[in-house]
Amino acid sequence: MDVAPPLSLSTTFTTSDGGHVYSRISSPTRDRAEMLLSAVESTSDTTAHAVLYASGLAATFGALARLLPKRVAISGGYHGTHLVLSQLSRISAGAHCTPMPLPPPSSVASTLRPGDLLWLETPRNPDCELADIAAYVEAARSVGNVKVVVDGTFAPPPLQYPLSLGADMVMHATTKGLCGHSDAVGGAVCVSDEGLAQELRSDRTALGSTPGSLEVWLLQRSLRTLHLRVKQQSESAAALAEWLHRAVVNEAGHPLAGRIASVRHPSLPSDPSHAVAKKQMADGLYGGCFAMELTTEGAARALPQALTYFRDATSLGGVESLIEWRRKYDDAISPTLLRVSVGLEDVEELKRDLQEAVLSVSS
Ligand code: PLP
Repeated sequence: MDVAPPLSLSTTFTTSDGGHVYSRISSPTRDRAEMLLSAVESTSDTTAHAVLYASGLAATFGALARLLPKRVAISGGYHGTHLVLSQLSRISAGAHCTPMPLPPPSSVASTLRPGDLLWLETPRNPDCELADIAAYVEAARSVGNVKVVVDGTFAPPPLQYPLSLGADMVMHATTKGLCGHSDAVGGAVCVSDEGLAQELRSDRTALGSTPGSLEVWLLQRSLRTLHLRVKQQSESAAALAEWLHRAVVNEAGHPLAGRIASVRHPSLPSDPSHAVAKKQMADGLYGGCFAMELTTEGAARALPQALTYFRDATSLGGVESLIEWRRKYDDAISPTLLRVSVGLEDVEELKRDLQEAVLSVSS
């Protein structure tokens, strides 16, 4: 009997066994991956039901197309999510998914109306700012009929469990940390309401946004090491952020003193999101991504190419460290900002790499 789970690539199934019919509707490989992700996203008080999609943005589309909010309160974050909103607004002739600025939880009651939705990307891409999920859930309930959806791509389990904090849905680009090997694009929506999960699956069948069998097989392969990878990446990111932060505050003798303008990672006690992180994320594990700013645009643009271990590539959550000059993809981002995704390499090697490269681009 196989120890590694089997990969079924079949798109169609003989009708005699009464099970699967056609793989856009269901398939053994996808059922198994959904079962595993459901278990990974569940906690002692919440049973999650996972629905897989062809990409993170297909999952975003699936979630929003099912809930069909009038307005979506959103604060920056991944630029692609805004493209989905504009598509849904176009399709609905402006009746749905009109974006509006995300108010602080204390202003939700005075700014949102029944039928609106709060889209919380936390930690947020690329600056790692957190949204207080429990505070937003409470505020949404005070208005009534305001759904809360969390894009948890930057913090897969075991870093945070938005459903247990009362969120209606958690969405993931599984392309990132959940798959973790930079080899399979995919997305997921997890909900605690089993009926809602079935509705999302029916929508997916009708929209054709099903993931490929190989991709979901790769996802289930990756879930076997998720907790180990995410823990190590979070610890390494925190260590690098702490070391870089000492350069920001010009610690005497720091090799990079005066060359790093800022660092954002929820692990840093001085970070504006630290208090929320301590409350809503796993004990001391705040994710494998951080943002840093150099002192000039020229240095920030040059840094990715000056590194050896960090690859100059977009995306995040993989076993290999990546860095990108984020402005290349999103012109709303500061031209001195770099987004860093920490992999599984030795953290001291990564530190040395950063030190040599920052010195070379900012001398
Ligand atoms: N959400 C966030 C926070 C992301 O960073 C990304 C991609 O980078 C997505 C959603 C979209 O995922 P995908 O590229 O799999 O469509």
